[in-house]
Amino acid sequence: MTLPSFKEMLGTLIGTPSISCTCPDTDQSNLGVIDALATWLVDLNFSVEVTPIPSLDGHRHGKANLVATLGSGPGGVVLSGHTDTVPFDEDAWQCSPFDITDRDDRFYGLGSCDMKGFFPVALRAAKDYAEARLAAPLTIIATADEESTMAGGRFLLEKGRPRAACAIIGEPTGLIPVYAHKGMMMLSISLQGSSGHSSNPDLGRNALDAMHVVMGALISFRQELAERYRNPGFEVDIPTLNLGCLRAGDSPNRICDHAELQIDLRLLPGMDCDAILAELRRRIDVIAVAHDMPLAAEPFYPPISPFETDVNGDLVQTLSRLSGNAPGTVAFGTEGPFLQGLGMETVVFGPGSIDQAHQPNEYLEHNQIEPATRVLKQVIERYCRPA
Ligand SMILES: [Zn+2]
Repeated sequence: MTLPSFKEMLGTLIGTPSISCTCPDTDQSNLGVIDALATWLVDLNFSVEVTPIPSLDGHRHGKANLVATLGSGPGGVVLSGHTDTVPFDEDAWQCSPFDITDRDDRFYGLGSCDMKGFFPVALRAAKDYAEARLAAPLTIIATADEESTMAGGRFLLEKGRPRAACAIIGEPTGLIPVYAHKGMMMLSISLQGSSGHSSNPDLGRNALDAMHVVMGALISFRQELAERYRNPGFEVDIPTLNLGCLRAGDSPNRICDHAELQIDLRLLPGMDCDAILAELRRRIDVIAVAHDMPLAAEPFYPPISPFETDVNGDLVQTLSRLSGNAPGTVAFGTEGPFLQGLGMETVVFGPGSIDQAHQPNEYLEHNQIEPATRVLKQVIERYCRPA
């Protein structure tokens, strides 16, 4: 079979825009990336299944997941990546985000490290096994919308497949096996009061006065959560709740009729997003009732659950040994909870640094590519070709 070079494949993927964004004007299809991957995978004898995601039909251009399998039977390993990138700030880029630039021992381009670069690594690792008889299947997954709604990962879990012994999510961890990350929830909290002349408070209901009490309750809740939960595996070892943005009112001499507060919560493994959200709502609902004004507290997108797998698990320890890096935790969310939900030992492990992700002039260091490929080959040997 003929597989293009790493640089050619990464160039094709970077040159195929696949931005996902909750803003419909910026959002793009991922089908171009899926097509390119499907072509290469078919050439490597994988059986390739492309599944449109129903929730992203219609106004969202159509998007799909790809699941490609070499070999069959139970067990085996999944190598998983997302096809989409975040939007970009054109003025801040020194090169074109959609043309691969090979400079200073780095490949520059949008998605180079997060995480289009993982696919050519996985394909080159898989290449040697295209003609082999595998004892257990090697599966490569490419998902949609990881950077926005996580609809692709969710859909895999809904469909109940693929299943394997274990899964690697190739997010950029600098080749550190990551066994846990925090959960994420972003909420908009709005209070609707009524306006009136500032000279007489009885002429209206002041939404900022009520929001002030809500903010006090949130800060108390944050302190209680920090006392209740702690995990020394994380750099910030407590759950966090950030008051990030407040919009309210229009004039000093009018009673403020509307206030919106945006907050970000980062939950530790073991904390349940729905339960925390319900508790938070209970605490602020009573304040809204006391101030006689409607309150809405809505997530911007479905919460991302915290993730943790056993640090002594076989895949964590295997990746640690092969990479020479101790297992660690990260502060960003992944599709880990969905793949873990399918019953696979799931670890986040990939080339590149998260420091370059979601940034102008994103790049992947050349020196990450060979070690990543070597480790993945050894993982395939271990899980797909038992002696
Ligand atoms: Zn990513």
